[in-house]
Amino acid sequence: MPRTQETVLEIDLRALKHNFEYLKSRITKGAKLLVVVKAYAYGSDANQIAKYLEKLDVDYFAVAYTNEGVALRDAGITKPILVLHPQPINYKTLIERCLEPSLYNFNSFNNFLEVATNEQQQNYPIHIKFNTGLNRLGFNEIDIEAIYNKLQTTASVKVKSIFSHLAASEDLNENEFTLRQIQSFQSITELFINTFGYKPMLHLCNTSGILNYPEAHLDMVRSGIGIYGFGNSEKENKNFIPIATLKSVISQIHTIEKGETVGYNRAFKSDSDLKTATIPIGHADGIGRQYGNGKGFVTINGNPAYIVGNVCMDMIMVNVSDIDCQEGDEVIVFGKQPNASQFAERANTISYEIITAISQRIKRLIIK
Ligand SMILES: *Cc1c(COP(=O)(O)O)cnc(C)c1O
Repeated sequence: MPRTQETVLEIDLRALKHNFEYLKSRITKGAKLLVVVKAYAYGSDANQIAKYLEKLDVDYFAVAYTNEGVALRDAGITKPILVLHPQPINYKTLIERCLEPSLYNFNSFNNFLEVATNEQQQNYPIHIKFNTGLNRLGFNEIDIEAIYNKLQTTASVKVKSIFSHLAASEDLNENEFTLRQIQSFQSITELFINTFGYKPMLHLCNTSGILNYPEAHLDMVRSGIGIYGFGNSEKENKNFIPIATLKSVISQIHTIEKGETVGYNRAFKSDSDLKTATIPIGHADGIGRQYGNGKGFVTINGNPAYIVGNVCMDMIMVNVSDIDCQEGDEVIVFGKQPNASQFAERANTISYEIITAISQRIKRLIIK
C-alpha cells in the first residue's frame, strides 16, 4: 500500500468478506443474513459494499430511509431492500423502486395501504415492526387484530415479515431485559400466526443479538456493525476486522515557543517549547470538537499525537514534540489499530458514531 498523500478512507473488502463469513459461522443454520447498509454503509460506501455483498450472496439489505434504497437500486442492486423508517411522502417512490417498507403504527400502515391500492399493487411485501421495549418504533401485540381486520379489506399488500429490535443486546447486565424482549416477541409471533393463519419471516437480532442470543436468530438476523468490523465487546472485537481505515498526512510542522498559543480562541497556551503538526481533517469531516484539547489523538509513525487546542473545520493540530516525523508523512486516525471504537472512547462515544460521521468529501478508496 503506497503512503497516502491526502485524507482518505480506505475500505478493505477482504476484511468485509472475513466479517461476513465469520458472522455466517455464528448464525443458526437456515437463518438468513440481512446486512444493514444505512448511512452509507456505516460511513463507508454503500454502493461498493452492497455490490460486493451481492457477490457473496447476501440474503437481504436494509436501509433507514427511502432515498438510501433508491440509491442502491440506481447502482444496480437487485436483492430485496427493507426500508426501516420510511416516511409516507416517499411511499410511491418506494413502490416504484421495489423497496419494502417497515410499517410501525396505524398512521404509516394506513397511509401505505392507500398508496399501494392507488398504485394497483397486489400482495406488495410489507414488514410489520413491533415494539418490545426499545420504545422507539413499533406496534403493540394488542394491535394485531386491527391490523388483520384492515388487511381483510384489501389484497394490495402481504405481510412478508414481522420483527422487533433489541434495546441492549450488547450489555450482558441487561440480559434479563433482553430475555423479556425475546419472550415478548415470541408471544407476538404466536398471536400473529394464530390470527393470520400463516407464518411470515421472523427477525429480531442485530449484531450483538446474533453474538449473545443464538436462541433468538429465528428466520433472519440483521447485522450492521459486525459486518463493518466491530463486535461491541473486547472479546468479540477480536473476531472481526474493521473494514475502514481513516488516513491523512502532515501538511505543515510548526515550532511553538513557550507562551505562544495554538488554534482558534487561543485555546491552547504553551508552557514549554513544542512541535505541532497540522493535519487536513476537521469537524466538518466528522472529527468533532469534543476530540479537541488533548482528548483525541492520531497515530504518526506508530506514536500517538494528541490534538492541541480546538478542532477546526478542516484541520487539527497535533503534538508531535516527541515524534520523529516530517511534512508529508502519513497519519492514521483510526483503522485496525487503534480501531474506531478505541478512537471514539476518548470522546466518550462509540464506534457507530465516529464511523458514520466521516464526511462525504473524504475520498473512499476501495481495496480489493
Ligand atoms: C441499525 C439497525 C440494525 C443494525 O444494528 P447493529 O447493531 O449495527 O448490528 C438492526 N436493526 C435495526 C432495526 C436497525 O435500525
